[in-house]
Amino acid sequence: MKKCNHQRLQQNLELFSTYGRTTHHGVTRLSLSREDIQARIKFKEMCEHLGLTVTTDDMATMYATLPGKKSLPSIVIGSHLDSVVKGGRFDGVLGVLTALEVVQSIQDQNLELDYPITIVNFTNEEGARFEPSMMASGVLSNKFDRVKMLQSTDNNGETFEEALEKSGFKGSEENRLKEASAYIELHIEQGPILEHLGHEIGVVEGVLGMVCYEISLHGEANHAGTTPINMRKDAMFATANIIVELQKKLKKLDDELVYTIGRINAYPNVHTVIPNQVTFTLESRHKNSAVIKQVENIIKNLPNELEHCQLSYEKLWDRDTVVFKHDVCNVIAEACKDLGYSAHHMYSGAGHDAQFIASYIPSAMIFVSSSKGYSHREDEFTSYENCAKGADVLLNAVLQLAKHDLGEAAI
Ligand SMILES: [Zn+2]
Repeated sequence: MKKCNHQRLQQNLELFSTYGRTTHHGVTRLSLSREDIQARIKFKEMCEHLGLTVTTDDMATMYATLPGKKSLPSIVIGSHLDSVVKGGRFDGVLGVLTALEVVQSIQDQNLELDYPITIVNFTNEEGARFEPSMMASGVLSNKFDRVKMLQSTDNNGETFEEALEKSGFKGSEENRLKEASAYIELHIEQGPILEHLGHEIGVVEGVLGMVCYEISLHGEANHAGTTPINMRKDAMFATANIIVELQKKLKKLDDELVYTIGRINAYPNVHTVIPNQVTFTLESRHKNSAVIKQVENIIKNLPNELEHCQLSYEKLWDRDTVVFKHDVCNVIAEACKDLGYSAHHMYSGAGHDAQFIASYIPSAMIFVSSSKGYSHREDEFTSYENCAKGADVLLNAVLQLAKHDLGEAAI
């Protein structure tokens, strides 16, 4: 089994953690910000130093390609260099730097592959500066309209288009990732499961489907002191009852179902006024669409009227479960086995570029454990040893894929 250069990977992770470093050793590297551009320039310089060809597409997504012996579609590996505000120094960048390490290891060990290897850095995965998340991969996979994306505006009133124009990384549409033999994205888990179970590597078989509803209770506003309790139409107490009811029913559905009431607004939100309306979101995720359907049925069967208040609901959005390519998952699982690293097959609860890319390229993901499950915070941490094991798995998975006749594996 081949191994990566663990020390070099650590040095590169440390180097990139300086681009946008925050006081508590996290990073703020918003998409196409000065810090992100610093990281991009360094990444480009390192790739060109290795003799790779670096191109960018019309969304500034970067591609660095090591040619293969044959003219075949690339095996693509990578992730994103941008971060949220006060994010961690592993989210995204680990996928790009392990990909770089894989290419360096292939060169160090004089492994000549038939397939070209392309390292990708997707622009604006986080959506922290310009909404939505996974913007560039969404455009690539036709989920998002590029013209609309260009108008997305940050808090300072700057559009994505303006940031793109002055970034120095805007390339042409013809450089877009159109076809590839496979895509593998290595990422931190961003959850506690691997650490909890004591596994080193997650073989990610897909991304959970989700649904988000907004539910409202409509009552009547009135004076908090003069209106007798039995003459009220109090939307807050009606909401409290509905939430308890929802929890009782959702709990019984399936152990793997997750559900969150993440936003709640009371109107008029004044302590001397009975609330005439309360609105909250219920977001739920599960890999099985039948279970998501059951969640929707529970919402649809809520009483229309409760405690003299009217109930209404609206579906805000949903996304289907994405199932990654079985063959690519298998290659990752085999690499773990051969390397003697313990692996756990799992689904991702969080969204990633791979879920969009999977719509037209055979894709899968590798997770490494997140300490305490923390992410999107400055103390996000994965041991360098675990990062390096992830890189070893990525290297061997790529080598294995390069031996296959990927023409058959391709969708
Ligand atoms: Zn990420």
